[in-house]
Amino acid sequence: MKLMVVGGAGYIGSHTVRQLRAAGHSVVVFDNLSSGHAQALPEGVTLVQADLLDAASVKAALEAHQPDAVVHFAALIEVGESMRAPGRYYRNNVVGSLNLLQSVVETRKIPLVFSSTAAVYGTTDAVPIPEDAPMHPESVYGETKLMTENMIHAFHVAHGLPYIILRYFNVSGAAPGGDIGEAHPNKTHLIELACLTALGQREKMMIFGEDYPTPDGTCIRDYIHVQDLADAHVLAVEALASGRQEAGTYNVGLGHGFSVREVLDAVDAVTGRPLTREIAPRRAGDPPRLVADAHRIVQELGFNPQFTDLKEIVRTAWEWHRSHPHGFDQ
Ligand code: UDP
Repeated sequence: MKLMVVGGAGYIGSHTVRQLRAAGHSVVVFDNLSSGHAQALPEGVTLVQADLLDAASVKAALEAHQPDAVVHFAALIEVGESMRAPGRYYRNNVVGSLNLLQSVVETRKIPLVFSSTAAVYGTTDAVPIPEDAPMHPESVYGETKLMTENMIHAFHVAHGLPYIILRYFNVSGAAPGGDIGEAHPNKTHLIELACLTALGQREKMMIFGEDYPTPDGTCIRDYIHVQDLADAHVLAVEALASGRQEAGTYNVGLGHGFSVREVLDAVDAVTGRPLTREIAPRRAGDPPRLVADAHRIVQELGFNPQFTDLKEIVRTAWEWHRSHPHGFDQ
């Protein structure tokens, strides 16, 4: 198959491009490179450098490349920034996605796989969280993802657009071998920060709260390896293209979580460089426990994650950061 991967030069996008090619598919990437990196793309992948806000260029790319399906990652992703600049987030994430949906139904009506997030649930008492849990996003970022999910569903009902929505939990790690990985300009993610601290780029690790109602007092998250997540996209595209699925929404996680302390212990063990830790106040908006109920994707799409060991996940992140201490800007 030929896939158009929108936002394919980013962290999850570039790992998905790689796994799609490994599964024998050809790929065209549509990306404005606002946060993605052309260096993250393998040889032989065509890059259309353009913006979803330019509706004409989306339509032109679909007409020129005639893909069999679209995988849509392109979005601004920072929760804090989304609260300070909501207009930018609604425009980029919602209007951009609307342009893509409109172009897809007007040109080829091909299946769409969409990157969503556990942030659509907001704080919930459900542990683990099933797909039908109530959705009350607490950030503009989460709200833009939920709005896009709703638009996709409406296009399915009105125009027969086949779709799969994947709601990611805590994406982490890097491709084994360490040649591509996480390189966001603004670093907030626990494992990435811990690796950069182990490299001496930061003095210490802050633990945001140790008085949560969890066994060791720190927050618990479901860390899904980026390559397993990429494989979930391959399964989704293939299920849609074969007609086995017409519409579906799936959590992507391991179904069990690790605490902040457990993650830092794993980083210490993998790097052999024990980190200085300091207890800091809770970070606003952090629920104590976010763990996926991941049964649906296992049962319906045959999802079979390979990276279930926390140290293995951390090891791949460490390989990437150690070999690329400044990301793609060497
Ligand atoms: N965290 C922390 N110190 C840090 C960064 C993160 O204690 O320097 C905690 C954070 O409060 C949360 C967990 O680690 O409980 C995972 O945070 P991350 O930002 O990686 O992902 P999120 O769950 O916010 O998507």
